Amino acid sequence: MAKTKPGRKDVDSYKIKGTNKVVRPGDCVLMRPSASDEPPYVARVEKIEADHRNDVKVRVRWYYRPEEAVGGRRQFHGAKELFLSDHYDVQSAHTIEGKCTVHTFKDYTKLEDVGAEDYFYRFEYTAATGGFTPDGVAVYCKCEMPYNPDDLMVQCEGCKDWFHPSCIAMTIEDAKKLDRFLCADCSPDDHANRSLNDFPVSASIETKVSPACLPLVVPCTGKVASACERDGEPKRRKR
Ligand SMILES: [Zn+2]
Ligand SMILES: [Zn+2]
Repeated sequence: MAKTKPGRKDVDSYKIKGTNKVVRPGDCVLMRPSASDEPPYVARVEKIEADHRNDVKVRVRWYYRPEEAVGGRRQFHGAKELFLSDHYDVQSAHTIEGKCTVHTFKDYTKLEDVGAEDYFYRFEYTAATGGFTPDGVAVYCKCEMPYNPDDLMVQCEGCKDWFHPSCIAMTIEDAKKLDRFLCADCSPDDHANRSLNDFPVSASIETKVSPACLPLVVPCTGKVASACERDGEPKRRKR
């Protein structure tokens, strides 16, 4: 925990100007970006301090958007994905515009509705080196990509791998209508990639679609992707 500066005292809450919302240490907040056309910055409040004139400052730990990290945004990054960085800062509490929730990846995939204030993170990010923790994640489908929670995927009843409809020549609409799915490798004949109405009933396990139930464990194939291919320059946050 950082030391409180002389003449300042720790306070346990701060009310966001013009709202009834109260911020406490541990809360995630949206902060006004330096350029008005940028999306708000997301941070976790670590500490709140006030001086005798009630000038309030917050010590924050930044979440980075994929665009701000080495490698930039990649196909598997969700629209609401953030990285928990090791970058701390002290900011005026006046730059806080609102509160938000940064879910774990698992909790995010279980959300019934994703609201404007819902985000998630699955990687921690070291700003100085551009390194990610964990540095690898499970990958799925023929394209061997990590799971993007924004994408619908279908599960093969045979190998239990998950597939993007587009990677198995299927529309999303068709995929939603599927009762069962066997991938090309698991199909008993050459007519792969279609709904198998003649599939033996004994194997009627409730599988398919819903990315919400995607397992977080590494699939038995053990395929793992690098969390970041270093094909970009680090973009340091300018404050
Ligand atoms: Zn794919
Ligand atoms: Zn399969």
